[in-house]
Amino acid sequence: MKRWQKSLLDNYGTPTIELVSGKGSVVTDSVGNTYLDFLAGIATNVLGHAHPAIVKAVSKQVATLGHVSNFYAHPNVLELAEKLQKMTGDKNARVFFCNSGAEANEAALKLSRKTGKYRIVATKESFHGRTMGALSLTGQPSKREPFKPLIKGIKHVPFGDSAAMKRAITKKTAMVIVEPIMGEAGVIVPPADYLKNLRTYCDAAGVLLVFDCVQTGMGRTGDWFGYEYSGVKPDVITLAKGLGGGLPLGAMIALGSASKLFAAGDHGSTFGGNPVATAAALAVITSIEKEKILTHVDDVSDFLLAELALIPGVTEVRGAGLLIGLTLDKPMAKAVTKRCQELGALINAPGESIIRIAPALNVSLRQAQKFIGIFSQAMKETN
Ligand code: PLP
Repeated sequence: MKRWQKSLLDNYGTPTIELVSGKGSVVTDSVGNTYLDFLAGIATNVLGHAHPAIVKAVSKQVATLGHVSNFYAHPNVLELAEKLQKMTGDKNARVFFCNSGAEANEAALKLSRKTGKYRIVATKESFHGRTMGALSLTGQPSKREPFKPLIKGIKHVPFGDSAAMKRAITKKTAMVIVEPIMGEAGVIVPPADYLKNLRTYCDAAGVLLVFDCVQTGMGRTGDWFGYEYSGVKPDVITLAKGLGGGLPLGAMIALGSASKLFAAGDHGSTFGGNPVATAAALAVITSIEKEKILTHVDDVSDFLLAELALIPGVTEVRGAGLLIGLTLDKPMAKAVTKRCQELGALINAPGESIIRIAPALNVSLRQAQKFIGIFSQAMKETN
């Protein structure tokens, strides 16, 4: 802790444990304690730690050709773009690769400027990243206030409120951006018809509809993309987190006519689509398919949702797939998280009374059972 404080900036606070290795959904700290990892690098390590397919693909790639830049093509970048295109169901979809969720949303913001308009509607309490453009889209006052002035022309309306969104969208709006489920805000699920309504309003006004699937993408909700349940086709999808299975990789996918907005020279990234990160992403997609992980997500999710709802002190269980939010009857989420860590399970508390659970998608049912035991005990001892 002292070394952290002496060498790292103060923006995160000081961690209390140091993790040194992991296998599947179990991580080990530097003094030999093990933990069930039910946060997975903040909804990122979709295949858990040290998955053999990722280890093999990444090791082979780094030993062959580690980096080329986008001056040159590479088989991995082509294959991954083709796979993502296929997953969208749109042959016209085109992909831009970057390194993080914030960068994917920056790319979407820049793409929307190419419509010739600049106004944007986003939602209150949303999280789209910390860079100045992504922060301008983010709807959390505590994160925005210290960094004003932010980008102008962005209006934030309450999440899930179709009428407010309808009022805010005009013909001058370039894009609307929403998370299919708000992750950082505490796993907030919108009403069933919300995304469909947004599609209708955006179509009527000629506005790009962007779904930020950074947290809800790559199988996290039991579908490839967190919006799929709605049957709606967006104009832009942003991805990161699970895409690289733990390696830094983001993507912006532009669908339909939106895929024609960028011209050569409009945007770029030195590392975006790096052969090693894309090798990991290809291993992620292939393994999810081969190991039938999307079906597994639904099974483990059903178990966790049912069991968590029975724990005294839990007032609501929400989310989809393995992105689960719990509200507690007291503002003790941080204390419960701390007690869970002491008992051997990692989770986090995005709010005073809110817990978020986002394990690897291949977490076993037995590990889920063990987690329920630890979490129940932590709740009992903290309450
Ligand atoms: N968008 C969403 C929905 C997120 O949950 C996050 C991160 O939590 C981001 C964007 C930003 O991603 P990154 O931290 O990779 O920049």
